[in-house]
Amino acid sequence: MEVRKIAVLGAGLMGHGICQVAAQNGGYEVNMRDIEQRFLDSGMAMIKKSLQKFQSKGKLTEEQVAETLKKIHPMLDLKETVSEADLIVEAAPENAELKKSIFKEVDTFAPPHAIIASNTSSISITELGSATKRPEKICGMHFFNPPQLMKLVEVVKGAKTSDETIQTVLDVSHKMGKETVLVKKDCPGFIVNRILIPALNEAAALYWEGIADRDDIDKAIKLGLNWPMGPLMLTDYIGSDTILAIANVLMKGIDPKFHPCPGLKQMVNARLLGRKTGKGYYDWTQK
Ligand code: NAD
Repeated sequence: MEVRKIAVLGAGLMGHGICQVAAQNGGYEVNMRDIEQRFLDSGMAMIKKSLQKFQSKGKLTEEQVAETLKKIHPMLDLKETVSEADLIVEAAPENAELKKSIFKEVDTFAPPHAIIASNTSSISITELGSATKRPEKICGMHFFNPPQLMKLVEVVKGAKTSDETIQTVLDVSHKMGKETVLVKKDCPGFIVNRILIPALNEAAALYWEGIADRDDIDKAIKLGLNWPMGPLMLTDYIGSDTILAIANVLMKGIDPKFHPCPGLKQMVNARLLGRKTGKGYYDWTQK
């Protein structure tokens, strides 16, 4: 199926970046929807800032920046956003009930041929598909943060997703300049988070149990595994709350062995969430 128009639901951290790569690399017309004007304004401001960075590095010309911006249309009305879209990418907060209600509503407004994909990090694609009358046209399209720079998209097949849907989303991802991997079975955490989240949970446990100091835990993994940053610093970037939420999904959906450690839970209870609250394993208030 040919995709001409894309709608992105959510102009937050991920949504604005997905809009940008769709317009900038894919050349698509993109409708960007959020629930309040201020979120759309902040999404557009983040897109402009990112495009200017590309321009200052000589990677885009002034014309290309202007062209990209012209292709992105901020909107509040859901029906207007999706009624002519061929592909809808949902990037609303990680909450199953919220996402299901969005999928149900989108299903009523989107054209019958349209594919609805979710950028969810852990919620079941099959469950989201069941909220619609088109489960064969529902799949996961999992970008990484920041979408403008991270090369990977995990394309996830739900229990009823058709091969045509998967092929279309693979093609669109490639047109956006991304590398893809196919997750053949809908399973919590897909590939990357199934491996990453337990690793970050173990780093939290090492710290909690006093087995090594923060800097040594991070140094060990940077030098021993060649990670660009240590697991505790990465935890601060992602947010302990997000990691806890995904760990719980893995525990409930796959195996009790994925249970979050007490140290991770305590970071969340103390609101030591990392960069977003100013403090986590590191102090971010001065940075
Ligand atoms: P975010 O909170 O930054 O952005 C979510 C946006 O969705 C907000 O602006 C919110 O106002 C908006 N929103 C809420 N209800 C909406 C609705 N009904 N329609 C349209 N927009 C609505 O969150 P985020 O970090 O961008 O995460 C979005 C999704 O991407 C989540 O499913 C998350 O798991 C996934 N994800 C996040 C990351 C990450 O590193 N942050 C990485 C990969 C995937």
